[in-house]
Amino acid sequence: MISLEEAREKILGSVSPLLLEKVNILDALGRVIGEDIHAGRAIPPKDNSSMDGYALRAKDTRGASPEKPVILDVVEDIPAGAIPSKKVGTREAARIMTGAPIPEGADAVVRVEDTRREDGRAAILVEAEEGQDIRLAGEDVREGEKVIARGEIIRPAEVGMLAALGRSFILVHQRPLVAVVATGDELVDIDEPPSPWKIVSSNSYSLAALVKDCGGIPLQTGIARDRREDLIEKFRSAMRADLIVSSGGVSVGDYDLVKEIMQEVGNSMQFWRVAMRPGRPLAFGTLGQVPIVGLPGNPVSSMVSFEQFVRPAILKMLGYQNLFRRTVRARLDEGIEKKQGLRYFIRANIRRDGEDYVAVTTGEQGSGILKSMVRANGLIVVPEEAATVPAGTWVTVQILDDSLDWTPRLGS
Ligand code: AMP
Ligand code: MG
Repeated sequence: MISLEEAREKILGSVSPLLLEKVNILDALGRVIGEDIHAGRAIPPKDNSSMDGYALRAKDTRGASPEKPVILDVVEDIPAGAIPSKKVGTREAARIMTGAPIPEGADAVVRVEDTRREDGRAAILVEAEEGQDIRLAGEDVREGEKVIARGEIIRPAEVGMLAALGRSFILVHQRPLVAVVATGDELVDIDEPPSPWKIVSSNSYSLAALVKDCGGIPLQTGIARDRREDLIEKFRSAMRADLIVSSGGVSVGDYDLVKEIMQEVGNSMQFWRVAMRPGRPLAFGTLGQVPIVGLPGNPVSSMVSFEQFVRPAILKMLGYQNLFRRTVRARLDEGIEKKQGLRYFIRANIRRDGEDYVAVTTGEQGSGILKSMVRANGLIVVPEEAATVPAGTWVTVQILDDSLDWTPRLGS
């Protein structure tokens, strides 16, 4: 049995960021860019007005006040997107809209609220300073400036910036194809009629959903029966993926053949069993060049183990630097009893209590109680050496659900 850190190191050591592919910027959302982006143009391209008002020469407004306005001739109207056709001379102004280019000769804009229209001329009611309400060319981005660096994650802001620069396609790391192989004679697929001695292979779906959720492409290979030929066939077909996850068949039962087949097909079982609960019987090896993580079959174990090992591996393949879930410190609402020597991951609901977070377990913690995951938004991590953790103790919690954040789940 090895520690969680050792296991994680071995698994993460077996994967690297995938090659790059060219994708449309909207498809790049959440992906890691594989090139530096230098601005091919300045933003904004020209000096322009940040207000609706009048473009004029600041020195013409000296002494202007509501009682003693300065009266200027209006030479033209410049809507946004138009090209100014006239120069603004002394004691002249151009009516200008937000975003429209500043005409030659003008060095300031006075917003319309500080003016009056009088007989077709502009009465300016305030003194303007040079440069007032003008956005300078290149004030957002200078031509040639590096705006996005290789390795950064593309978020909506980056998508907007790329669009502003006229970049519709960029290079990002490919998404890993992750094969999901369920094993077990007791399993049926979702649409098959259930019977009292069969169960739906929910892991095929929860694991595929986890793959999708962290940016991988799930490849559902279906259910392998607990027979050598069937397992070998399913594993062989899974070898076209970048990563394989299987569920079940890694315990010590007579029909737990996954470790054996891993050894036979890949000849490289690297470890079996990790000092954690749930998820102790985890096997890891490679089939050809493809890493295979043999997750335990119990629905909670397979999900919790996926969180600790597979999710970080997929994120690494996607090019992410930060591979692990956010953690917070939370006050335990009830006491926990555990076995020493194993790290526990206890399904919990984390909620806010004033400035603090409080962790409440989601009830029955058996590794077959999938409801304990359904109700959880975090995992309380209890260290190996602990045996009893009294209520009120501050514990570390892995946050599973940033989108729902602190919304209470059903039944909690
Ligand atoms: P195993 O490690 O293969 O003995 O599986 C342990 C238990 O996990 C089995 O008795 C099933 O109840 C459950 N199990 C295994 N595979 C799946 C699956 N694909 N979906 C849901 N439950 C499963
Ligand atoms: Mg089984």
